[in-house]
Amino acid sequence: MPVELLGKSVQELRELLVSLGEPAYRGPQIYRALYTERRFDFAAMTNLPAALRARLTEEARITLPRIVRRFPSIDGSIRYLFSIGGDDGKPAQIEAVFMPKEGRQTICISTQAGCAVDCHFCLTAQLGLIRNLTPGEIVGQVLMALEENREQLAPQTNVVLMGQGEPLLNYDATMAAVRILLDPKGVALAPRHVTLSTSGIVPGIERLGQEKIRPSLAISLNASSDEQRDALMPINRKYPLACRNFPLRPREYFTMEYVLLGGVNDSPEDARRVVRLLAHLRTKVNLIPWNPGNLPYRAPTADSIEAFKTILLEKGVPAFVRYSRGQDVFAACGQLALIETVNLSSGAPIVNLP
Ligand code: SF4
Repeated sequence: MPVELLGKSVQELRELLVSLGEPAYRGPQIYRALYTERRFDFAAMTNLPAALRARLTEEARITLPRIVRRFPSIDGSIRYLFSIGGDDGKPAQIEAVFMPKEGRQTICISTQAGCAVDCHFCLTAQLGLIRNLTPGEIVGQVLMALEENREQLAPQTNVVLMGQGEPLLNYDATMAAVRILLDPKGVALAPRHVTLSTSGIVPGIERLGQEKIRPSLAISLNASSDEQRDALMPINRKYPLACRNFPLRPREYFTMEYVLLGGVNDSPEDARRVVRLLAHLRTKVNLIPWNPGNLPYRAPTADSIEAFKTILLEKGVPAFVRYSRGQDVFAACGQLALIETVNLSSGAPIVNLP
């Protein structure tokens, strides 16, 4: 079986090349070709001798996520339904989103297929955990999205680990991928441009705090009290939110993600409780109005969104309203894979895909 190269660190590639009887410096050359130059065909790695390229074609492989469908939105974002696995990994479908904006693009990627964390407002939760992604499958989503949009790339790339899955429950693979993304000799993204979003897995947050090189941290708060959070995110009963000891860098903020669910957690009293909860923490809050979908929640009104934001701002808590991009193409995370799963298992479409 050819050895998989995508997802390997520079050190792993060095060791692999030495084990093949090649000079160690061929490892960094392949690393650069893969992650900086995005060359996925050995024939195109012209910095390698022809004999080595021919040998790698026989003995190694570079497996990118395969695009099942692209869903272009009228707002310019593109959702990708990828298929992964097959030869030596359980087949699964995952999602990523490419979101262009003036001067930058943001790519939202998955770290697991499905998810074991049972957040009640999330469609991915309905899939359950299918499996963890490998480092190559995680970093491959970024490389594919960049390559697909090569002609329109802006100078800055942001990556958010907010697609399917709980990144801190696939810690080692996620961090292996993040190190490649943040390595100046790899994909070369800035640490403040890569954000890991967690439902609040406390041991993972503590471990992340010890990393020398790490992404920014976003915590999915979504509630103004423990009781409310217990009801929306049962994981809260195991890990009540604790991030006071996280070693923030100078000028770094926690990002708190707060999905506003109409009539559930969007009242002025909720906003005042959030202010008290976050007192003394260096945080900014992203308010994300709920996207009406297949779950029994409703969108907040424009007035309640504005009132919530105003209360936070008046009390000195930086707050921003973030609307999900690509609402016309199933913006909710997990929606595409869920549709495909239902289609595959029932043979009947539950919605008309565009
Ligand atoms: S919101 Fe995130 S952690 Fe919660 S079920 Fe969905 S994918 Fe998992």
